[in-house]
Amino acid sequence: MRSGPRIALGGFSHESNAFASAQDVGLAHFLARRDRPPLLLGDELPRGLARGSFPTTGFLRAIGADAHLRPLAWASGGAGGLVSDEAFEHIAQALLSRLRAVGALDGLFLELHGAMATPALDDPEAELLRRVRGVVGDQLPIVVTLDYHANLSPDFARLIDGAVVYRTYPHVDRVQCGELAARLVRRLAGGGRVPGVAIAHPPFLIPLHAQSTLAEPSRGLAAMSLADAGDVVSRCYAAGFPPGDSHWCGPSVMVHATHQAAADAACEALHRQVLDARAAFDARLLPCDTAVRLALRHAQAPGRGPVVLADVQDNPGAGGSAACTGVLAELVRQQAPDALLGILCDPEAAAAAHAAGEGACLGLALGGTHGVPDQPAFVGRFTVERLGDGRFTTTGQVAGGNATELGPMALLRLGGARVVVSSVRMQAFDPAPFHHLGADPAAAALLALKSTCHFRADFGAMAREILLVEAPGDAVANPARYPYRRLRPGVHRTP
Ligand SMILES: [Zn+2]
Repeated sequence: MRSGPRIALGGFSHESNAFASAQDVGLAHFLARRDRPPLLLGDELPRGLARGSFPTTGFLRAIGADAHLRPLAWASGGAGGLVSDEAFEHIAQALLSRLRAVGALDGLFLELHGAMATPALDDPEAELLRRVRGVVGDQLPIVVTLDYHANLSPDFARLIDGAVVYRTYPHVDRVQCGELAARLVRRLAGGGRVPGVAIAHPPFLIPLHAQSTLAEPSRGLAAMSLADAGDVVSRCYAAGFPPGDSHWCGPSVMVHATHQAAADAACEALHRQVLDARAAFDARLLPCDTAVRLALRHAQAPGRGPVVLADVQDNPGAGGSAACTGVLAELVRQQAPDALLGILCDPEAAAAAHAAGEGACLGLALGGTHGVPDQPAFVGRFTVERLGDGRFTTTGQVAGGNATELGPMALLRLGGARVVVSSVRMQAFDPAPFHHLGADPAAAALLALKSTCHFRADFGAMAREILLVEAPGDAVANPARYPYRRLRPGVHRTP
């Protein structure tokens, strides 16, 4: 005899930088374990996500033992270029074929990102939901979790019944958002569609490094997102992902409510709040040479902890290659005596270091992106200080507890600079990859991190100072520099 609601769950997420040099997010990307599990099908889903730091982890924790779960498919690409159309079709099909087989449902939960794009699809999440609606019909409540960087469209808003968007950047509330989504699904289960929906788009873009919720105005805006508050089923502020180049790229406000007037009123009020905050977004960056000079000076002053240099434009979590060497070159040029840099992705250099062995000295052309003039390799003789197999479990606040495989890793030294090298891209948001190679980020005088904002969660507290650096990379910080093709007309490229 049935007691609890019948709920299907799945996930398909990726953050697409349309301008990344490497457009390599094919099916193989989703089938490999990296800093997240590979594609999970059916019963693999609850097993693979019960521990970790994903919204689905929180959803599984909070949905209740009486619920009858129908796991579909889950895939997370993290960030990079456009998802190939082949990969999108394969994963969508994996999810939909199971959805067709699960029988009657009372609710559906999906873990999405909101800023995916493919060569053929401007809004793949809406396309996925259209196909889901084609299976489940137009009465089933659908609740999703969304990344704070979602680029949300009106079509997308109309296809769902409620959303829980991350309220933090660094994203330290993913699991909690999954828990909130579980409660929302339970509230809506069996009750039909939510009738009120409203969405609004402020007419400007917000650079990623100006979106941190550790500071105003983003702190206050993100705090307005909520789920399950009386008439308002959910209210979302998404800051948008400027490198996404979709028609609806940029910040948005989305409300689902029990009646249209409530949705309109809540949407309009929050939209007004975003418009009023426009002048307060701080998008300043320091030129690389200035940043390193300041860091060297400030590191000598009395105090504790490293000066952090955030290499924001080579953040692989926003589509950077993580192979850029602009900051490394400047550290070497200014003879930084004690600098630790990570995580630079170069599988060939890691393999060469493993072949040479710990203690060896070898000449390398480290990093660099072939064919991109301002992203050269750094040529020098490096000492192999430490090797690692790249297998560790993350320990940080952004995405802790995830079994991770970054392939062969090496800690290389050149003068006073040490570089953490991996074979698979991972944003420097967690201390575990440094500890894996015996490097202590807290003990370095200068700590150069390939991250825009997530680094603040674990490295912010140890830092004596944080400097945001403008060095070459594919995660270009200033949206005015992107050659948009899909972005709707009339949008200002800066706040
Ligand atoms: Zn994000």
